[in-house]
Amino acid sequence: MNNFQYQVEQFADLRILRYQIPNFSELPLQKKQYIYYLSEAALSGRDIIWDQNNAKNLWLRSCLDSLYGVINSNDKGFEKFETYYKRVLFSNGFHHHYSTEKIKPDFTEAQLKGWIQALTIDEIRQLGEKSGEGLLGALIELMFDNLYMAKRVCQDEDKDLIVHSANNFYKELTQQEVEDFYKNKQDESDLQPVSHGLNSRLTKNNEQIEEEVWHVGGKYSKAIQKIVYWLRKAAEVCENKQQEQVINLLCDYYETGDLKTFDTYSIEWLKEQEGEIDFINGFIEVYGDPLGFKATWESLVNVTDQKETQKAAIISDNAQWFEDHSPVMVEHRRKEVKGVSMKVINAIMLGGDCYPASPLGINLPNAEWIREQHGSKSVSLQNISHAYEMASLSSGVIEEFAFDETEIALHKKYGAIADNLHTHLHECVGHGSGMLEVGVRTDALKAYGSVIEEARADLFGLYFMADEKMLELKLVSHMDVLKAQYNAYIRNGLMVQLARVNVGANIEQTHMRNRQLVACWVLEKGQENKVIERMNKAGKSYFVINDYAQLRNLFGQLLKEVQRIKSQGDYAAAKALVEHYGVKVDQAIHQEVKERYSQLNVAPYSGFINPKLSPIMDADGKLVDVELGYNESFLDQMQRYNRDYSFESNL
Ligand code: ZN
Repeated sequence: MNNFQYQVEQFADLRILRYQIPNFSELPLQKKQYIYYLSEAALSGRDIIWDQNNAKNLWLRSCLDSLYGVINSNDKGFEKFETYYKRVLFSNGFHHHYSTEKIKPDFTEAQLKGWIQALTIDEIRQLGEKSGEGLLGALIELMFDNLYMAKRVCQDEDKDLIVHSANNFYKELTQQEVEDFYKNKQDESDLQPVSHGLNSRLTKNNEQIEEEVWHVGGKYSKAIQKIVYWLRKAAEVCENKQQEQVINLLCDYYETGDLKTFDTYSIEWLKEQEGEIDFINGFIEVYGDPLGFKATWESLVNVTDQKETQKAAIISDNAQWFEDHSPVMVEHRRKEVKGVSMKVINAIMLGGDCYPASPLGINLPNAEWIREQHGSKSVSLQNISHAYEMASLSSGVIEEFAFDETEIALHKKYGAIADNLHTHLHECVGHGSGMLEVGVRTDALKAYGSVIEEARADLFGLYFMADEKMLELKLVSHMDVLKAQYNAYIRNGLMVQLARVNVGANIEQTHMRNRQLVACWVLEKGQENKVIERMNKAGKSYFVINDYAQLRNLFGQLLKEVQRIKSQGDYAAAKALVEHYGVKVDQAIHQEVKERYSQLNVAPYSGFINPKLSPIMDADGKLVDVELGYNESFLDQMQRYNRDYSFESNL
């Protein structure tokens, strides 16, 4: 396993990596069976995220599959077509997975025309078109018309966010209509409010607004039936009674679409802490909807990393201590922090919105009242972050953007430990901390809510990393770990992450906004005392931290303010903070970062190939073993998924 190849290929702005599952073969058969069935359920919902991202995505995927089959690999445009094809596959649709802007092909309309001529009329009809001309026209509009469905998630507050978003959550509605629709649904006095709109598409027919609910018998019925089929099989071989109950509740929810059942499921899922294997499967995160109502479908199957989890448990066990020592206003501290659990896991199967670009940490459930009354389950993905780390050590990014040898050495020594610890603190005590003032609505910050929330969790982690408590709890062996983390955070927030933004554009992505917000705020507030200093060496800019203690202080001050904004639902302050620090980019720095980064030839985004799980059946068709394979290429895997897990169609 020492020679495991973490990075498999690179194209456009993407790197394709692989992750390992340690000790899989030693698992007992029943656990392997459980994993296998959950993994099939994880792959079965793939079409849902494609359709949620855009109503034409599944159709486009079929077109690209067909065209790829007929284009000669000697054709001059073949490589350009293949790159576009792979980019679309990577993004689960024709909008960039991160920027959400439409992906532009490098081939020409004329080349496309030539390739379409190689399709038979039957193939064209199967794509829902009467003629090659018709197909060409439709594809040209989709691929080459800059105004047509330009952006999946519009974040520009000056525009109608719904009208200008190309996602498939709303049909023929304006932002005002959507906001009014859900405002009327909300009952302020309900102490256990369901997340209205989480699992439906909103449409307008003859002035009548209707919800198309995603459940068996409703929208996405075919894919959801498959998911339920595999979940039911998983329930037969799960590890304990609680898991069985959890899976049955999830199936009930998928069958009815009832959000109350989803909340019940979420609470029971939260309570299940005994098993070694766990999963996420459902409509979970709302980043794909600029208004934050609609959830994209995602799945993750995972196994606990016992050794790392013991370390993280120390943080969970001390959750109350963190809360009591948090620099936020006393009235915004939670009196009793409940059920904050922290698990370090190894991913086994990524599905839906978690694939191929994977999260590094997850904290669920999302419903605020459940978090307050029952706590949340928090995981960090050890083998995924390990794969990133292994792939990045050779990239040269640290050497380029760190100021001197000391900073580089510090990173090589403590970078991985520091980043793990920050993720643990962010996911566990960060998101789980704090409370709202009475009467404040959870959606009061509207489009700024998620940036503020991520900033809050990041700041909580940054603040406590510098606490002596870290030594006392034996979470670090040396306080230099915090220096490695502070260096990395400032380096990234002020410079490195800009490599992902087009020159001239604003920052739109939530996590990038929050990182720049935090980094720019402390840079500005610490300017007088030169807490962070901008240096110049051989014509290159660097940001160097002079005073770590003062920087910690500034993180604490900002945490207090960000918590106040959330607790009081101060929309105006959230807007001012995000717009002032998190959105606009310093043009000169941006240009410089782009130039320096491009010389390194490292693609800024990464995603993963899943391992292939092959069932071994006996003569009676009974599953007797599961074999793990790492040999599939990116395109092999994507095409296999296109073929074997294609249950929805928008032809
Ligand atoms: Zn977070």
